[in-house]
Amino acid sequence: MSNKVIVVVVDGMRYDKAYDALGYLQHLVEIKQAALYKMKSELPSLSRPLYEVLLTGTPASTNGITTNQTVRLSKQKSLFHLTKEHGLRNAAAAYYWVSELYNRAPFDFVEDRFQMDETKPIQYGIFYWEDEYPDSHLMADAEYLRRKYMPDFLYIHPMGVDLKGEQFGAESKEYREQILKVGSLLAQTVPIWRQEGYQILITSDHGMSETGNHGGTTSCERDVPLFVISEKIEAGVYDEVIPQLAFAPIVCQLLGIEPSEEMISYQMPGLKNKKVFN
Ligand SMILES: [Zn+2]
Repeated sequence: MSNKVIVVVVDGMRYDKAYDALGYLQHLVEIKQAALYKMKSELPSLSRPLYEVLLTGTPASTNGITTNQTVRLSKQKSLFHLTKEHGLRNAAAAYYWVSELYNRAPFDFVEDRFQMDETKPIQYGIFYWEDEYPDSHLMADAEYLRRKYMPDFLYIHPMGVDLKGEQFGAESKEYREQILKVGSLLAQTVPIWRQEGYQILITSDHGMSETGNHGGTTSCERDVPLFVISEKIEAGVYDEVIPQLAFAPIVCQLLGIEPSEEMISYQMPGLKNKKVFN
């Protein structure tokens, strides 16, 4: 059974809209090849604080990344640090704030766009800074990293859904269309990734309000999907709402590595083998 993991964080994709629009992933759920959970984001429901939550499993009160303007390296142990420590190879195709959290802050637009350096926490990275950077190009960046460096842990982070949500609101044609586009990109790549032996998690940092913003406490802003494709997880739709702090330790479980000391201990519903650490 493979321990390799691909994580796709579709920025700003709220639960109900993803549920309705991601036809291919829902097909995998229907034929019992994927699990679907509802995940409740931490607060504040903002991007940079939630990147830190997803990647370190710690809340803003502990990690100090409390705003989008908190531009500094994380002081926590991230999934990048942990995979590297365990001798696994990692890679990321992501928005530049992810590089600022784990590799270098502030971001240098020339030097930091492409970072191929095994000594850094993110070992192989391609980063973008325009919110308009096409999701199709980002997915190609990620697939390039995967094919060239064969990472055990690959983090992929497209921004298009969040952009359309902020421009037009979560009830708009444009927001739904962008989720459909991401769904189509995933329908092209997920079969390849599965063939290559990857477990796949698809989620989001936060949701989106009807008026095109987030940061607050409503379900629209906090509820995001978590699709999991893994032989270690029983397929199906789960009613239990998962706390976002559980995401990082779940990824550790699927990678077969010990979570950090700061991560919560969480019994993932549907996890088949409780003892999967190396
Ligand atoms: Zn975001």
